[in-house]
Amino acid sequence: MYYHNIHMALQEVPGEISVCFSISGCQLQCEGCHSPFLWKAKTGKKLTEAIYLEILNKYKGLATCVLFMGGEWHPERLAYYLKMARNKGYKTCLYTGEDAINPTVLKNLTWLKTGSWQAELGGLDSSTTNQKFIEVQSNTQLNHLFIKTP
Ligand code: SF4
Repeated sequence: MYYHNIHMALQEVPGEISVCFSISGCQLQCEGCHSPFLWKAKTGKKLTEAIYLEILNKYKGLATCVLFMGGEWHPERLAYYLKMARNKGYKTCLYTGEDAINPTVLKNLTWLKTGSWQAELGGLDSSTTNQKFIEVQSNTQLNHLFIKTP
């Protein structure tokens, strides 16, 4: 599993401060993709267990959630890393362009965002979006948290 960047994200998971890992190798090639640099597999740096653990330890007490942007194409490694995060007290989230994911990954997630990018439908802040933001345990769709009230 390779990553392009690791950054703090404040809006992707409402109410949480997330450490966000952007993973390379997305095959979906959505038209208008905001991150085409993520398409090519094995670009960026290898996300070794040692680097991952170092980041988890560094942000413990500062961040509340670990967020993966992609990586579902490495289901076993992703599930393992999500479990590590949960064991350290983090909540977990995956942003995927797929509509469904591997059950082992799913069971280690607090939240899941599904659906490809379709510009004409808009993202999570659009009432016409194809994307869903779901609380996994209760299987509740929480898109309303992204809609701004005028
Ligand atoms: S799922 Fe995301 S990263 Fe992948 S092609 Fe679509 S918009 Fe780009």
